[in-house]
Formats: sequence, C-alpha cells, structure tokens
Amino acid sequence: MLKRLLNLFTSGAKDSSKASNTRTSDGAALIPRDQHNISRKNISPAAIKIIKQLEDAGFAAYLVGGGVRDLLLGNHPKDFDVATNAKPEEVKRIFRSARIVGRRFQIVHVRMGREVIEVTTFRGHHEESSSVRSEDGMLLRDNVYGTLETDAMRRDFTVNALYYTLKDFSVIDYCNGMEDLKQRTLRIIGDPATRYKEDPVRILRALRFAAKLGFNLEPKTAKPIRELSGLLLNVSDARLFEEVLKLFLGGSATATFNLMREYDLLTHLFPGTDKALKAGDEIGANLIEQCMINTDKRIRGDKTVTPAFIYAALLWPALQQQFTLLSGQMTPTQAWGQAAQNVINQQLTRTAVPKRFLIPMREIWDLQQRLPSRLGMRALRTLDHPRFRAAYDFLLMREAAGEALDGLGVWWTNYQTANDEEREQMVKDIGKQGGAKAAGKPRRRRGPRKPKTDAAPGGNE
Ligand code: ATP
Ligand code: MG
Repeated sequence: MLKRLLNLFTSGAKDSSKASNTRTSDGAALIPRDQHNISRKNISPAAIKIIKQLEDAGFAAYLVGGGVRDLLLGNHPKDFDVATNAKPEEVKRIFRSARIVGRRFQIVHVRMGREVIEVTTFRGHHEESSSVRSEDGMLLRDNVYGTLETDAMRRDFTVNALYYTLKDFSVIDYCNGMEDLKQRTLRIIGDPATRYKEDPVRILRALRFAAKLGFNLEPKTAKPIRELSGLLLNVSDARLFEEVLKLFLGGSATATFNLMREYDLLTHLFPGTDKALKAGDEIGANLIEQCMINTDKRIRGDKTVTPAFIYAALLWPALQQQFTLLSGQMTPTQAWGQAAQNVINQQLTRTAVPKRFLIPMREIWDLQQRLPSRLGMRALRTLDHPRFRAAYDFLLMREAAGEALDGLGVWWTNYQTANDEEREQMVKDIGKQGGAKAAGKPRRRRGPRKPKTDAAPGGNE
C-alpha cells in the first residue's frame, strides 16, 4: 500500500508545477487523470451508473467523500457518495428506488442492487439563508443549496472534499486536500471551533479518521476538541449511538480508543468507565484494549462483531466499580444486579443503547457470575446458554487483561471439548478440591470484606 502511495505521489510530484497551474474557472486545483491513481474499475458500478444518469438528465454529478479519499490512498472504500446539483426531489424523479432521508440535511438514498449510494445536493452558504441554529451554534435545519465550490467548503475535512468527475476523470480540489493527503494530515475546513459547534459529531469524525487513516490531526483542528467535546451531549442520543458504533467498527478501534482517551472524550461518552479508569483500574483499561484489538482483528478478517460485546467491555470497568461500591450494602447477587442497572441507566443518559444490544450485554455480564459455578449440572446448563460463547470469550479476555481467575478460562476451554465422562470427572475434581475457590465463588477485586454469611451469586454450592 505504502509503495503504491509513494508511486502516486512521486509520479504526481514530477508534474507538480503543471498540476498547480491547472485551475477551474472558480479557482479549484484540477488534477488530470494522468496525475492521480483513481481508476474507474475500482469505483462501484452503481455509483458510476447514478452519476451517468444524473448527467444524462442534464445535471452535474461527482464522486466525493470517503470513496475518492480512500481510492487516492490506495485503500478499499467502504462506500461511495455522490454530490449533484439536482435537488432531492429531482433525484427522486430520476431514480425510482430513491428515498429522501434526513431531517437536518436532506440526503437521497438510491438503491441499486445490493448497494445504497448516498446522493447529496450541493450545499450552499448557510449564513445567508434559512438555516436554523441553536444557542450553541449547532445547525438544526439546513437545506440550502449551492454550487460545487460552496459544497466543498461545507464538507468536514479537506481530504473528504475532493471530487472526481467522469467527464474527464480529473479530481477537483478546492481546499488543498491533495496536499493534506500527501502529508497525511487531517485538517478541518474553515474555523475549527465554528465547525465543531455547528455539528459536534465532527469531533468524533476527526478522531475516527485520524485513527483509521493513520493521519495526524493538524494542530488547529485538534486544539478546540477538549474544550468543545461537551457539546456532544447536545447531539441526539440515537445519532450518538450510531457514531460511537462507527468509532469501533471501522477496523481501527484500538487507535480510536487511544485517541478518545488522549482527548478526554470518555468523560462525556462513557462517564462511568472514565471515572473507573481515572481511579486507576488497570485491568479494566487492559480489558477494553484487548476487546478493541480483537474487534479490529475480526473486522479485518471479515468476521462479525457484536456491539453488545463491545459495550459489555466498554462498561465493564464502570460495572466493577459500582459492584465494589454496593457490595458492602447488600448481598453480592443484589449488588451485581443493582450495579448493572446503575451503569446502564447512567449510560443511557449519554448514548442510546438499543434493547437488542442491552439484553445480550447484560447476559454476557451475568454469565461472568455463573461461569465459576460448575458443580452438579451447573456447568452443563451454562454451556447450553445461548450467550455462552460470547461469555466464554469475555472470560478469556478478562484473564488476558490480568484478572486472576484460578485457571477458569482453561477449565472451560477443556470442558467444551471433553466427552461426557471426562466432563463428569472435571466437575467431580472441582468438588474434591472443595471450598469457595474451587467451586468458583467470584472474588471481588477491591473494597470491604463481605460478611461471611453472604453467598456469592451462583457460587453457593
Ligand atoms: P467513510 O464512509 O469511509 O466512513 P466518509 O468520509 O465517506 O467516510 P460519510 O459519513 O460517508 O464519510 O460522509 C460522506 C462525506 O460527507 C464526507 O466525506 C464529508 O465530505 C461529508 N460529511 C459527512 N458528515 C459530515 C459532517 N458531519 N459535516 C460535514 N461534512 C460531512
Ligand atoms: Mg462514505
């Protein structure tokens, strides 16, 4: 990849004087087809078809956004976005499968086969028009249309504002995005603070792209992030949930999470975990890191990942802290349930977490309490639980993070492949060893001693 990138830029550099002289009538740099590496065969046929159909209907249409950026970097684009001067209603008239979505910004989704291409109408300058802002400067409604140039200025980062045209296969660059791409710099377009206030989600996008592309955040782009990240709380919790998922599902969760810690974003997005990590929960921090590493590996290997598992890890340090806090006041079973509920309630004040993820997350947590209890039929019942596999993976992650669990992970690894007879023996062996340790009473990691009469949840065999 790096070699391809170097080729791209060295071959471009030979002609850089020529390239910088080529300008559109409105002042954008024009990079002709022989000076960039975008090849039409790497563009989704659906996007090409949509651009052609828009052009045939007399409109201008360009490929823009991550598709152009990633092709220039020699990466595989995740999706393709199209920008046009056709209004949403006009796009809808051309494509029967088109659906207008979005309230704040109207976007048209055009379905072609299994692909959905996002088609947006050129945005205009919002100052002069009917856009609506909140007191914090956030754009609440903004469907003001403009030209290719104004559209470029309204995009988030310079490297996301490059347009590719099928008319002569050149790249059009209003914001010096090609140079930033070359320098591997992520730079916000316009005044950083104003742009973050308009849409605080750009803060998350800045960290996501910096991590995913391995780019440096340009200093002025980075500077207001800490001060303004509290504005994220003004973003609807559903959008925030979606954006948070993107942070962790893009194949660079580890780097993204590190940046989130560096820029102190957890304090707003995951306050419980933030508190626990700042209190020095090393094992919790390791566990999250381990989860992010595994998530990245799975995504790169085209395997599925479940947000429930990621959230179970992200909120685990908060759960541990709450559990320790409550353990002195009630039985461990009650403390566990109450701690889980408190952590979930607090999280829901920050990001939405749909029930379809909350329920399996709770199951993964609760199974952590059941895994140590293996006597009688318990191990067999736990093995049959629909969430066993995720809970077992979670257990291995806890051990890898440094939690001492008396070889519980290995025991469950062996138990899964053992035959009936061996399984029976394994359980008997635990019984023989006797005591809370062998039966697998969960041990709290910190905090006051619990009264001796309290039975650990599921561990009172
Ligand atoms: P990827 O799809 O790989 O995550 P992308 O850059 O294509 O990255 P999208 O969310 O698909 O990201 O958005 C497409 C384009 O729309 C962006 O490249 C950017 O130009 C513009 N854009 C998206 N969100 C914003 C925003 N919040 N503010 C300004 N421009 C945005
Ligand atoms: Mg995209």
